[in-house]
Amino acid sequence: MDLGGLPRLLPCGVAHLLGRKMIEIKLRQSWINTFLRCPEQARQERFGLVTQRETSDLLRGNAVHAAIEYAGLALLQRGERVELEELLDVSDSFIASYASDVEVWRQDYEPTVDVCRKNLECWHNELFPILEPEAVEEQFTKEIGIRGNVRLMMTGTVDWIDKSGVLWDWKNPGRHYQAWEKKRWDIQSHAYTWAFDADQFNLGVLSAGKLQVIEIERTPEQKEAFLELCWSLVPTIMSKDETWPQNWSGWHCSPQWCPVWQAGKCRGKHLGDNPW
Ligand code: SF4
Repeated sequence: MDLGGLPRLLPCGVAHLLGRKMIEIKLRQSWINTFLRCPEQARQERFGLVTQRETSDLLRGNAVHAAIEYAGLALLQRGERVELEELLDVSDSFIASYASDVEVWRQDYEPTVDVCRKNLECWHNELFPILEPEAVEEQFTKEIGIRGNVRLMMTGTVDWIDKSGVLWDWKNPGRHYQAWEKKRWDIQSHAYTWAFDADQFNLGVLSAGKLQVIEIERTPEQKEAFLELCWSLVPTIMSKDETWPQNWSGWHCSPQWCPVWQAGKCRGKHLGDNPW
């Protein structure tokens, strides 16, 4: 297929509409976050030049997500509120099934199982009783708009849409967040409230068996500003440059976190695996 000199745009998808060559660009909120931390890392991930390593952190988050999804579906499909023991079994089985995929164990197997159990107990006791799902793990793809020959799309998956109208996302970090930072800077809450025409997005943060709820409200003005942020990425995505700007300033630029560094590219090419 002739891509009109834009071969590196293949992963974004290309549409031919009305005889005019349209370029369709799909954004995910997680990729926007990566772009804002380091555009070069985002480029390498977008074009499949590097991939993130599987970590025990990811396994922990996925196990808790799987158990909560199970609880949501049981309520939606059978009207049953599952007991805690059933949720713990889902989490334990998930970890046993996917542990072999983990490349980096930041936390050992048993403590990972233990933290997931504590987090789920906390979720089951403190949040589940007040939740009523309308949908769980709901995928969306929505058009942001068309400018010139670019059609910009947003895609993603929301963890839990509650009948109260609140969107929920589950986080399982090593420690609780600063709420004011999330309210001021969080990208995901903008993307998902825009996509579902909602105004309330809650983070259910589960860490070491303790719950933190961060309630984030997104106004129409905040969503409009977010859409302009999305458009601001387009010239870089459309560029034919061999590299995008590197951002060294922050925790992300290290052999521990950056897959580009880990692949021996960018700073990793010069500084190796153990620079400090
Ligand atoms: S090594 Fe640093 S500058 Fe290079 S891609 Fe990774 S985060 Fe960006």
